[in-house]
Amino acid sequence: MSDVTTVKRALEDRRNVLSTKAEEIEGTLRTPGNPDFAEQATEAEGDEVLEGLESSALLEIAQINAALARIENGTYGECTTCGDPVGEDRLASVPHAAQCITCASR
Ligand SMILES: [Zn+2]
Repeated sequence: MSDVTTVKRALEDRRNVLSTKAEEIEGTLRTPGNPDFAEQATEAEGDEVLEGLESSALLEIAQINAALARIENGTYGECTTCGDPVGEDRLASVPHAAQCITCASR
């Protein structure tokens, strides 16, 4: 198991990056649209893409918060579904992973 302090810092850094990104997207979405109708249609499509990016950023933030809570209560690294170890390799690539690969791929 890697040092939780290091993991915690990595998760917090990642959360900062995501919050900044989500705020930027939010700012872009709130910018008044172009008065030209054709441009508006294009912008609406772009907005949908941005909304998707924003919700995936917000989802990852929620997962990071949950991972930080697991670090606090000492259950970090345990699968939230079956209780088995999530696995170091998996945590190395997805530090906020809540489930082991078996449960996650179910
Ligand atoms: Zn599991």
